[in-house]
Amino acid sequence: MESNDQARAIAANLARVRETIAAAAIRAGRDPTAVKLIAVSKTHPVSMLETAIAVGQTVFGENTAQEALPKIDALRDRGLEWHFIGHLQSNKAKFVPGNFRWLHSLASHKLAARLSQAAQTHRSRLQTLIEVNITRDPKKHGVSPEEVFALVEQIAAAELAGISVRGLMAIGPYPADEHQTRTAFAALRELRDACQSRFGLADFTELSMGMSNDFVPAILEGATMVRVGSAIFGDRVYTR
Ligand SMILES: *Cc1c(COP(=O)(O)O)cnc(C)c1O
Repeated sequence: MESNDQARAIAANLARVRETIAAAAIRAGRDPTAVKLIAVSKTHPVSMLETAIAVGQTVFGENTAQEALPKIDALRDRGLEWHFIGHLQSNKAKFVPGNFRWLHSLASHKLAARLSQAAQTHRSRLQTLIEVNITRDPKKHGVSPEEVFALVEQIAAAELAGISVRGLMAIGPYPADEHQTRTAFAALRELRDACQSRFGLADFTELSMGMSNDFVPAILEGATMVRVGSAIFGDRVYTR
């Protein structure tokens, strides 16, 4: 595509996604500003992120440290907020604090402890979400729904400096009809509410759920963050 055409397409896509988010929030009786749009820029070059930044997008998601770090460096001092949304091995934890504000894939106490160490080294604070395998798909990452209470309790008891556990993340079922999708997202919301009341966690408020194909039902079920890639940037081009 011609690069001017590409820039216009990204701007138009972003405008449409924002309008769709706002309409879904209003339909659910929610404040549209209570839903954060994370533009998932994995596989796309810095030039495409620049286009999104030019039309006001400041929140971006990436799923590997290897790909994200050069982009974060190239766009430093632009006031961006980066979210790490991919699976992370404990030995890569050192790359996250200081570069990313949020991590959506906490699934073990070991990773939490490593992130805490790294956050202290960087003198920064990392906001985290526990990834839940809400569909019990053996190919997906995350803890099973029954394991969530134990992990929250274990992390709280360890009083880890430098990290905050702020809520839950999940990937919806696919393929799935609207009813199956909403049932899965409702289950994640109920699990968050249960953690909040069981452990008295006032700031365990976040629900990261919804991607390009299912962010509307996610918002109807209470998503506070949606992770949208292809609906903004178009299809991903994998070169690896
Ligand atoms: C790639 C990715 C997304 C965005 O997916 P799209 O379907 O392109 O919107 C969201 N969440 C996670 C965890 C991802 O890896």
